[in-house]
Amino acid sequence: MKKVDCIIVGQGIAGTMLSWFLMQEGFRVLVIDDGKKNSASRVAAGIINPVSGRRFEPAWMYDEIYPFAKSTYAELSALLNVNILTERNLWTVFPSEQLRDAFNAKAGKGSNEKYTTIPQDLQYGEYLQQTLGAAIIKGATVNLKEFLPAYRQYLTNKEALLPVHFELSALEVISDDEVKYGDYTANQIIFCDGVAGAANPYFQAIKFLPNKGEVLMIRIPGLETSDIIKKSITLVPQPEGLFWAGSSFAWKYPDELPTSEQRVHLEEKIQQLLKVPYEVTDHLAAVRPSGDDRRPIAGFHPEYPAIGIFNGLGTKGCSLAPLMAAHFARVIKKKEPLMAEIAVNRYFNKPRR
Ligand SMILES: Cc1cc2nc3c(=O)[nH]c(=O)nc-3n(C[C@H](O)[C@H](O)[C@H](O)COP(=O)(O)OP(=O)(O)OC[C@H]3O[C@@H](n4cnc5c(N)ncnc54)[C@H](O)[C@@H]3O)c2cc1C
Repeated sequence: MKKVDCIIVGQGIAGTMLSWFLMQEGFRVLVIDDGKKNSASRVAAGIINPVSGRRFEPAWMYDEIYPFAKSTYAELSALLNVNILTERNLWTVFPSEQLRDAFNAKAGKGSNEKYTTIPQDLQYGEYLQQTLGAAIIKGATVNLKEFLPAYRQYLTNKEALLPVHFELSALEVISDDEVKYGDYTANQIIFCDGVAGAANPYFQAIKFLPNKGEVLMIRIPGLETSDIIKKSITLVPQPEGLFWAGSSFAWKYPDELPTSEQRVHLEEKIQQLLKVPYEVTDHLAAVRPSGDDRRPIAGFHPEYPAIGIFNGLGTKGCSLAPLMAAHFARVIKKKEPLMAEIAVNRYFNKPRR
């Protein structure tokens, strides 16, 4: 029997960050991940956007979340020899007069001052339909495509990765601080399994609102930029001259596969943005793991304290995961209390609607 302190199920951005910070706190971890091809973290573009929604309000806790994410990704870049975070402008084309007015009312003012500007010249005139003008939002991207496999290799080298599907039926809860799974015993098991978490019988109290997103990979001959371009669709530069073009939102879906309906929808949006021809090279889909209040979900089951969860990163896994995982790791190490806003107990303490 092999003994670790903590088993983590899932190596998306949640399990990656939590395992990293638990190891920084001195824990021995085992990460179990089945390498699901269309997990949210493997399909996401990795955008970090400082402002949210149609009112361009600063994102939740952004002034704490972003500097912490930036320094964490820099540390991991040095360790793994992968360039993880790239700061980029989001060239934001106004799709309507209302959005332009909302942006102008906030741009360069108050808490938005650091993140937003109105450009002096309208760039990309040859490529983009932008009759209502555009704005610049200062964001970033996280290179999930290289970061997650590099971290997986790091775990493998430390003999801390089991690349298999975890079967809940094989989990034995021995006591409040011991679980057994196959050849392993651990004090705790923490589920970082993304949308699969919604089916976990231990966490049926959580009101998950998972939503499916679809994405096209496209080539736009002649367009070379390091900016993210955003209108009602977002284009994110990728290696080899490709752009990630997404994404859709669907709360009702029969499966996790790409659909012809959303492909048409995404292409309509691309055509409303681009003046030039493009070619579709791929079509992907994945499900975002979200809770009903759009806040992360962390903590341990009130009746089974050896069973924990770190989930609910929604549309913002890349910005939220580092700070939230570092905080949760310190909570597990008993160095600080869990933030009430992200505590899983908020679901167990209220009647399910
Ligand atoms: C189309 C799309 C675009 C997005 N764009 C962005 C973006 O630009 N910026 C941003 O910050 N966020 C974005 N997101 C959201 C982001 O992807 C999520 O917040 C984040 O990836 C969630 O990470 P996670 O680790 O919780 O879940 P996941 O990434 O889903 O990871 C779960 C992991 O658990 C593993 N797993 C599950 N069950 C088992 C099991 N039984 N056994 C073993 N392994 C298991 C899976 O293989 C997977 O690796 C996007 C999401 C989608 C779908």
